[in-house]
Amino acid sequence: MKIVDAGVVLTSPGRNFVTLKVETDEGVTGLGDATLNGRELAVVGYLRDHVVPLLLGTDPHRIEDTWQSLYRGAYWRRGPVTMAAIAAVDVALWDIKAKVAGLPLYQLLGGASRERVRTYGHASGRDIPELFDSIRARLAEGYPAVRVQTGVPGLERVYGVRHDAHHRLTPIQAARLGKDLEPYDLFWLEDCTPAENQDGLRLVRRHTTTPLAIGEVFNTVFDYQTLVGEQLIDYVRSAVTHFGGVSPLEKLFDFAAQHQIKSAIHGPEDISPVGMAAAIHLDLAIHNFGIQEYAGHTELTNEVFPHAYTFTDGYLHPGEAPGLGVDLDEELASAHPYDPAYLPINRLQDGTIHDL
Ligand code: MG
Repeated sequence: MKIVDAGVVLTSPGRNFVTLKVETDEGVTGLGDATLNGRELAVVGYLRDHVVPLLLGTDPHRIEDTWQSLYRGAYWRRGPVTMAAIAAVDVALWDIKAKVAGLPLYQLLGGASRERVRTYGHASGRDIPELFDSIRARLAEGYPAVRVQTGVPGLERVYGVRHDAHHRLTPIQAARLGKDLEPYDLFWLEDCTPAENQDGLRLVRRHTTTPLAIGEVFNTVFDYQTLVGEQLIDYVRSAVTHFGGVSPLEKLFDFAAQHQIKSAIHGPEDISPVGMAAAIHLDLAIHNFGIQEYAGHTELTNEVFPHAYTFTDGYLHPGEAPGLGVDLDEELASAHPYDPAYLPINRLQDGTIHDL
């Protein structure tokens, strides 16, 4: 079997998604998600100009070899653009391999370790009463857990603040917050400090038993060396889409398992249903699964990406369709072209730029 074509589809059915479609000489196709919120065009260019030409004529079954050649062969390593592009290839090749096998992807990853995948949803509000309305809405939808974040009095617009702290605290502030929250028995405190400062987590860890989750902006296992090796966190949060695909994320989870650290794959709206499906297959298969973030998608997005995975009473299942179980309606996708969009910038009351 050979790869004969690979196309990049950029569509915006409500928000932007980048999808790689790999085609083979035997008619089997594979999809991969390469969406990088706010930097979509950079990944499109990386894929079209630098990756697709390397794929043509290669054997799609050689997933590990392809991954290593894209990672090592470029000389420049790591970084979100590179790793999102490699992720799309990795996932598309897994999709093809599983389709050829006639099995849902999770079967190739070792089979199911559980019957269903626990999720958490999002609740937020400008103030506490609005927040509680939002929490009640998520619980009514069946979510067994809820990520909570609320605005700050005095600030006009805020994209969340705690208990998903969005990397905004200093280590000593995070340590104090974690300690203060201990009586409330949080599932975790998320992204308490800027993730690139791994040493800071030692200080946080020394002062609190509140579980810590970090990693949604990480893109290689090297970002976790200190955090996992010294057991400074409790959940690793990287997404299939931003971590180079299923292959390296499975290795990260194995590394984390040695330290009794669990998975909690990032699952915001800007991971496409293709990336979400890959996550759910992995969630079902690995032993040290913790929880899956699931923000869901709009009806239009689900029409562009019809999928076999289901969300029932707060739990996901990848379905039994061969491969990822996701299709792409290219005609509908082309009716919704790229629409430039960015996350809001955060500034303090005195105008100082602050972490997003
Ligand atoms: Mg977060």
